[in-house]
Amino acid sequence: MRYLSTRGHPGRKRFSEILLEGLAPDGGLYLPEQYPQIDRAGLADLRAVWREQGYAELAFRLLSLYVDDIPAQDLRAMCGRAYNEAVFGTPAIVPLKPLEGGLQLQALSNGPTLAFKDMAMQLLGQLFEYELGRRSQVLNILGATSGDTGSAAEYAMKGKKGVKVFMLSPHNRMSPFQQAQMFSLQDANIHNIAIEGVFDDCQDIVKAVSNDLGFKAHWHIGTVNSINWARLLAQVVYYFAGYFQATQSDEERVSFAVPSGNFGNICAGHVARMMGLPIARLVCATNENDVLDEFFRTGTYRVRKTAETHETSSPSMDISKASNFERFVFDLLGRDGPRTRALFGEQVEKQGFFRLSDTEFQQIGHYGFVSGASTHANRLETIRDTHRRFGVMIDTHTADGLKVARQWTEPGVPMLVLETALPAKFAQTLVEALGLEPERPAALQGIEALPKRFTVLPADVARVKAYIEAHA
Ligand SMILES: *Cc1c(COP(=O)(O)O)cnc(C)c1O
Repeated sequence: MRYLSTRGHPGRKRFSEILLEGLAPDGGLYLPEQYPQIDRAGLADLRAVWREQGYAELAFRLLSLYVDDIPAQDLRAMCGRAYNEAVFGTPAIVPLKPLEGGLQLQALSNGPTLAFKDMAMQLLGQLFEYELGRRSQVLNILGATSGDTGSAAEYAMKGKKGVKVFMLSPHNRMSPFQQAQMFSLQDANIHNIAIEGVFDDCQDIVKAVSNDLGFKAHWHIGTVNSINWARLLAQVVYYFAGYFQATQSDEERVSFAVPSGNFGNICAGHVARMMGLPIARLVCATNENDVLDEFFRTGTYRVRKTAETHETSSPSMDISKASNFERFVFDLLGRDGPRTRALFGEQVEKQGFFRLSDTEFQQIGHYGFVSGASTHANRLETIRDTHRRFGVMIDTHTADGLKVARQWTEPGVPMLVLETALPAKFAQTLVEALGLEPERPAALQGIEALPKRFTVLPADVARVKAYIEAHA
């Protein structure tokens, strides 16, 4: 399998080459040259693998279709270490919880940081350590976080050989729980840097450091952001696992509703569907930051300015542009690299939006996508309703998915709503909705009282660089 860029660059690369890279050289995103096709016999095979050998082996089989430069026994061992009961607390890894009719939640948030980002990041930790070891290289991961991504990255990379993490977060602006999750890590390769500023200051510093190509090369600076193909690939697996749990035969179809921000999670659903998994609808659910809902309704993709981005009660979906979206548009346009480059590399860059032609927009019907958006009031109501009728507490992101899912159910087609975080992570809004504190998994009780490891720095690029030089 070779990988290409969505913007038409002639280069082709193998999996291990793009694993540690960010964007393609022309600014595009990497995708496989083609999607391996799973026919009905192949699907029956995978169902048997999932039933008899479990999630990790299913992951190995699916990854093997895309990875041909890592020996099979090594890849299988990495899947086994990433996806096991000790890490995810349940042998099913991504179990379903039925609500009513065909409507079910698929739990993706039983990993160490209680959000679905662990699903991909746990595998990424294995792959990074493996590939760096094979090349005798080191990597210093630099990132900015306001919550979920940073902690998932730290828990995946902690103690891994060859990797150090430098994670910037806005000083005193994360929730006490999120802060404790990150700052209580005692592993020497994890560096928490609390920046005296807001999240955008953190992100600007990461950009400034990454744009200093000399510094970046000398100190082996890399990222684990959501455009990484390996992250997306890891997420394809749970669409198959959800399908197998919700159906008896390979003739049936299911739909998925996905609380979306950067379009990473639902893009993995698109890949699964392109491989032949019988997915009826992919429901793209957004909060008040409805860039994607607007696109699926109108064919216009309009990125927002930072000042236009709403701070919502589902903060992990508060985005101004959807960084993985270009992958889907590339497929939608018949994999036309120059056209994709014109839309994303020119129109979005220069005017902040693009509009598909009518012919292009009509193609969307072939890809199963539909969409909707929720408000804070919708999410509170959905959290209350779900608790009252089913005795189940859901978090604000999942509530967004469930609210929009209800607009798109079809008789006879199960609708799986991806549960992207546990309610314990967003306790404040749960209390607002229900007057109740959500339960926390035993391992995380009282973490706010643990000793914290972090360094406070001013929002100053030079100071952050000096810190990295001293600790890389
Ligand atoms: C990251 C995140 C999302 C959004 O996922 P994307 O892949 O960015 O679309 C939704 N919910 C939670 C809890 C998240 O952490």
